[in-house]
Amino acid sequence: MAMAIGGGTALTGIFGDPVAHSASPAMHNAAYAALGMDRAYVPFRVTPDQLPAALRAIRALGLLGVNITVPHKERAARQLRNLSAEARQLAAVNCVIARRDSLFGDNTDARGMAQDLTELAAPVKGQTAIVIGAGGGAAAAMLALRRLGARRVIIANRTPRRAKKLASRFRSMRIEVRPLDHLKRPHLIAGAATIINATPIGLDAGAFMPIAYDAAQQGCFFYDLIYAAAPTPFLRPALERGLPAADGAGMLLYQGALAFELFNGVRAPLDAMRAALNARLGRSSTSATGYRRRDPLPP
Ligand code: NAP
Repeated sequence: MAMAIGGGTALTGIFGDPVAHSASPAMHNAAYAALGMDRAYVPFRVTPDQLPAALRAIRALGLLGVNITVPHKERAARQLRNLSAEARQLAAVNCVIARRDSLFGDNTDARGMAQDLTELAAPVKGQTAIVIGAGGGAAAAMLALRRLGARRVIIANRTPRRAKKLASRFRSMRIEVRPLDHLKRPHLIAGAATIINATPIGLDAGAFMPIAYDAAQQGCFFYDLIYAAAPTPFLRPALERGLPAADGAGMLLYQGALAFELFNGVRAPLDAMRAALNARLGRSSTSATGYRRRDPLPP
């Protein structure tokens, strides 16, 4: 149950536009309730023109820290003087921590994704992965794949220039850039052990772009950064073919838990956060993230 807000309640929150759909307040407030902390996490709708003022307000209002979401992650990284090495590498910030005399920008997306992919036993080490998209989420995926030891990554994106720019930031890996329509080519899909969607396609129902799902190797793991109550349009054809798949709920959980620890300096109560997220997504409270290989196809 949520704690009552009083004179001593310390605040954290999230800046985004839109922000009403965010599952982060439910996760963080469940964590505060589980730990009995007099703290609350508030969604703030911050329009792009108000981002600089909102960032300044973090210290003016005594907030402990905030998450940063769409569309502010890259701009926030440009506005902050102190960034973690990871936020600099990703050129994006997903959390800002208020320190005694400054703001510190960090990014927990790649760590959150790596933790989720590890828990899901996604085949990455020594393998070929395909990343669809070349924005901030794709950059986090590239960093997670590098950490998990991917041998080769293919970036497929609508705008080739953006994909090439992303590739140039990860020179230590073997990377190829392809147009989106190459995803229809059976031999490209057959060569991949993990395929990641880092575009927002599928957020509003509709079909995903054509992919040669039938050519996927047995055990090819499909991972969508989008999360929803039902399997996303990217994941559904994989699930229909009995392939392992997971949506971005696990990444959201783990990036949120890491941010919680940065804001509050205490270990995040993962079970409480997972239960709150699952409740938001209409899943059973203890269900793990991801659709396991042998699960019946969800509705
Ligand atoms: P972004 O920086 O705006 O990048 C979006 C990418 O998708 C771009 O490469 C863009 O291609 C491509 N794209 C967008 N619409 C497209 C379309 N209609 N057809 C083809 N390509 C299209 O966004 P982002 O921050 O990377 O986020 C991507 C998704 O990941 C969002 O849905 C976000 O909610 C999700 N996400 C989830 C988590 C999590 O914790 N689960 C964390 C981060 C992000 P162009 O380069 O051609 O424009």
